[in-house]
Amino acid sequence: MKNSLTCHFTSISENEGLARMIAASFIAPYDPTVGELSDIKTVVSEAVTNAVIHGYNEEDYHEITMKLRIENRLLTIEIIDEGKGMEEVEQAMEPLYTSRPDMERSGMGFTIMEHFMDQVEVRSASNQGTTVKMVK
Ligand code: ATP
Ligand code: MG
Repeated sequence: MKNSLTCHFTSISENEGLARMIAASFIAPYDPTVGELSDIKTVVSEAVTNAVIHGYNEEDYHEITMKLRIENRLLTIEIIDEGKGMEEVEQAMEPLYTSRPDMERSGMGFTIMEHFMDQVEVRSASNQGTTVKMVK
């Protein structure tokens, strides 16, 4: 069994819900448990929210790409932005680290992604953007 889907959408917060639903619909035919569906929706939300808020500083109308791939029950999700990127990926991924305490962010997004997925890989370069690749 093998399937893939790539979609591009505008970086507005409304599209976080759209991305969650697309990811859930994509995996639905492969008999996920209710828990698995909920975990996938959560990690997609966290990564897309990060792209909107941090990648693009909440300036609307940039582009986010989501790539979904399933092969032999291994699901790979990539959330890609071409925004401002991160200089210190390791620091950014530490629990409770946030560059936006002013916005009452809690710095738990990456920790949640790592908790729910088997593998989380982040590639990022200053002013070139960020790719978050998650495997389960
Ligand atoms: P929370 O997710 O709990 O609301 P948060 O978004 O600050 O808070 P994380 O999701 O763990 O926490 O992200 C940690 C930090 O990594 C962010 O504060 C931001 O500095 C940086 N970051 C995350 N994603 C991106 C991105 N796509 N582009 C640029 N910086 C990012
Ligand atoms: Mg976050």
